Amino acid sequence: MIIAIDGPSGAGKSTVGKNLAKRLGYLYIDTGAMYRAVALKAKERGIEPEDEMALSQLVSSIQISFVTRGDETRVLCDGEDITHAIRSPEISRLASDISKSKRVREGLVEMQRKMGKEGGVVLEGRDIGTVVFPDADLKFYLDADPEERGRRRYREFSEKGMKVEFNETLKEVVERDRNDMSRSLSPLKRAEDAILIDSTCRSVEEVVREMCRIAHEKRRWSEIDYR
Ligand code: C5P
Repeated sequence: MIIAIDGPSGAGKSTVGKNLAKRLGYLYIDTGAMYRAVALKAKERGIEPEDEMALSQLVSSIQISFVTRGDETRVLCDGEDITHAIRSPEISRLASDISKSKRVREGLVEMQRKMGKEGGVVLEGRDIGTVVFPDADLKFYLDADPEERGRRRYREFSEKGMKVEFNETLKEVVERDRNDMSRSLSPLKRAEDAILIDSTCRSVEEVVREMCRIAHEKRRWSEIDYR
């Protein structure tokens, strides 16, 4: 199966997606990390988010891959490990800005379709169920209250030793969502056939268990369909 998880930042998509993939024995693809990789490279090369030509060349010349070691998934770009470098607030903002670029989206969507086409994958992002795999076997839209999402991001940054203010983090989360929901190309929205799951006040375990149950049910039904 191809399983899509979309939703705003801080809703828990990565944690839940990784866990779900592990339990099903599936490959996990974090498409946000790919937009972050392009943002990091654009910053290193001094490319402005409005420079469509330079972004187009950049996205067609870089190699992004994921390597899983034990419980950890590392993000590599042209062989360089960028797992940590792409997680700063600055790269989050920049990723949201460059994600408006038509060429960047086209390039990354093509890579994502290649990575996921064999099935047995959980893809997580903003446009998986609407654009990348509109025919995905199972679609989830994971949401949570903005305050809760801000708190999760704040905790994540603090645990990594980054000095950030809670109010600033909350503001950034809300602004980035507004940016992602209002852009003209592939804006973040719930696909009509996506199952809405609200993760506010729910543990990772609870959410993953619910998704697993739905995935198993879906698999059972599709096996019956095939017979
Ligand atoms: O999921 P994450 O917060 O890492 O994504 C970073 C940014 O990449 C998002 O704010 C969004 O602008 C962009 N993105 C996107 N489409 C995706 C995944 C991420 O536009 N499928």
